[in-house]
Amino acid sequence: MITCEQTTTSDLAARYVAGQLDPQERNSFEEHYFDCARCFDEVQLQLSLQSAMKSAPVELRNPAAKKHVKTWVAWSAIAATVVVMASIGFWRLRIPSRAPQPVAAVAPAQPDPLELLARVEPPPYQTPALRGASPEPHFRSGMDQYRQANYAAAIDELSQADPRSPDVQFFLGVSYLLRNDADAAVSHLRATIALGDSLDVEPAHFYLAKAFVKRKDTASAMKELEAAVAIHGDYEKRSQELLDHLRPR
Ligand SMILES: [Zn+2]
Repeated sequence: MITCEQTTTSDLAARYVAGQLDPQERNSFEEHYFDCARCFDEVQLQLSLQSAMKSAPVELRNPAAKKHVKTWVAWSAIAATVVVMASIGFWRLRIPSRAPQPVAAVAPAQPDPLELLARVEPPPYQTPALRGASPEPHFRSGMDQYRQANYAAAIDELSQADPRSPDVQFFLGVSYLLRNDADAAVSHLRATIALGDSLDVEPAHFYLAKAFVKRKDTASAMKELEAAVAIHGDYEKRSQELLDHLRPR
């Protein structure tokens, strides 16, 4: 896990933009900044700086271009999330030419910014110590599969567990989301909210928002995030951050 402090002390954003992180570092850093407004902004800033430096020779040759470069830098500093994600995509397209592997015959499509924001970290599941009797067998084995990231098997087991259990509906919804089945995720996360269990409602709103982002329905996603923020619980900060990324600037 990368912290904001490491981002600063290890200069991660600059090295990320420069393509200097090894794949593992890059993945951890991406996982962090997709959910962290502060580090996301830092990446945005580094991209602006990088673009400005690339444009610098033009400026030296042609003073008239200076104004254009400045405008570009100012513009990119306030650019919408969409634009930044497109820039990251652009930067990634350039990687094959620097890496030792042969250049890909077909350039990969630019990543969809909403797809990046729809990325999901599976919420941890702790066996409840004080929540009633021991869980039923299908729920227990479903959650064993879930913990091992076998989401298809988790769905199989959880689908046979008690559908009136908010935990069953919640982890079914999340498992479908992790299998990229946004429609099934929406229906189970809505069912979770309808069951009204105080512990599950807030995360259900958050993951329902992720499912809507996956369906490219930002309006519905923002409604769910607002509902999550209003609960003022564990998901308030990350819900607010995702909301800030989705809100048109
Ligand atoms: Zn951070």
